[in-house]
Amino acid sequence: MISVSEATALVEQYTPKPQGVLRNLSTAAGLVLAQDYKASEDSPRFTNSAMDGFAVRFADVLPNIRLRITGESSAGNAAQSTLAIGTAIRISTGALLPLGADTIVPLEDCSMEADEMQVRKHPTQGQFVRPQASEYAIGTPILRNGDELTPARIAMAAQHGLTELSVFAPPSVALLSTGNELVEAHETPVDTQIRNANVPMLAAAIRQSGARLSHTAHAKDDFGQVCEALAEAVRLADVVVTTGGASVGEHDFIKQAAHVLGFETVFWRIRQKPGKPMFFAKRTLEGRITLLFGLPGNPVSTLVTFLYYVQPTLARMMGKSPAQRRTQARISTDLANMHGRVEFVRVCLIKEQGNEIPLAVPLPKQDSAMLTSMTEADGFVFLDVEARVEAGSLVNVQEF
Ligand code: AMP
Ligand code: MG
Repeated sequence: MISVSEATALVEQYTPKPQGVLRNLSTAAGLVLAQDYKASEDSPRFTNSAMDGFAVRFADVLPNIRLRITGESSAGNAAQSTLAIGTAIRISTGALLPLGADTIVPLEDCSMEADEMQVRKHPTQGQFVRPQASEYAIGTPILRNGDELTPARIAMAAQHGLTELSVFAPPSVALLSTGNELVEAHETPVDTQIRNANVPMLAAAIRQSGARLSHTAHAKDDFGQVCEALAEAVRLADVVVTTGGASVGEHDFIKQAAHVLGFETVFWRIRQKPGKPMFFAKRTLEGRITLLFGLPGNPVSTLVTFLYYVQPTLARMMGKSPAQRRTQARISTDLANMHGRVEFVRVCLIKEQGNEIPLAVPLPKQDSAMLTSMTEADGFVFLDVEARVEAGSLVNVQEF
């Protein structure tokens, strides 16, 4: 049995480095860039108008003067002529500034009569003109290695003609549940059967992490079946997540099956509660690394170990730094840890009026089979071995 910090360090040590692949812009949202990109052109590409109105020479705009409208520059259709002295050219937002013009008078600041316009509000020189390269020049860095592709960055790539981007490929993850007692959510359990909660839970968590769920399967507690299902999972995925069957019971076959398939145990069992029976193994075959997270079967243990060990691993494999939202709170009650294992106490956070620091209230039922300790919770308080915390003292809550 190893400590939580040793387990964390080992998982991180064996996590493969993220791999850069080319992805079409339309499927790259949320992924992380694997290289820097520079502007392929100036922004704006050409000097244009920021308003609908008239392009004029500032020097022509004298009180009560009328300027003859001689043409139009619209978005995508530049004016045919240059701006002659004493004239105006109608212009729309984003349209090329005609040669000779230096100022835009917005529509709302002028009046028109026949083919003449009159300025009602005196402009400032150069107003509403967007000069070429005023945002940045060609060659300027626009996107960086490590940037997550938000809609704005997708737009930036599109603006520069980058239809394919080098990104870190999301790992493919296979999910395998085990247990003779399990039926699917749409089935009705009989006798001592229960519904499979872990597969839908982990499928959701894997998708939410941005990784690709390649495969889900279920195996009975039968060595042959577990081997077969695990072999298929390994064939399809970079990361295999199993639930149940990782403990010391006679019907727990994950570890044995993993060894048959060429996995090496990195660790088994962690001094933590819940989540003690977690098993972690790796396999390197023909240069391909596969990780196996053998998570415990009790849904709370499953989710706690997923959130604490698997989710950060998936994030790293996608070039992301694992998100850790920590909130300071006051604990509502005395806590003492006499279990010899770090306790992941599930708490809900309550904001009280007039108090900046929220109250962390441990869920009353912390059994690892009781999902309310997760559905009603906002995060964990880590309670070290032998630690005592008095009601009212400050604690860190790691939010889910
Ligand atoms: P195990 O680790 O296989 O001994 O399972 C521990 C406990 O978790 C048992 O009570 C199982 O019935 C329960 N369990 C295992 N897998 C699942 C699952 N997929 N969904 C819900 N409960 C499960
Ligand atoms: Mg089982």
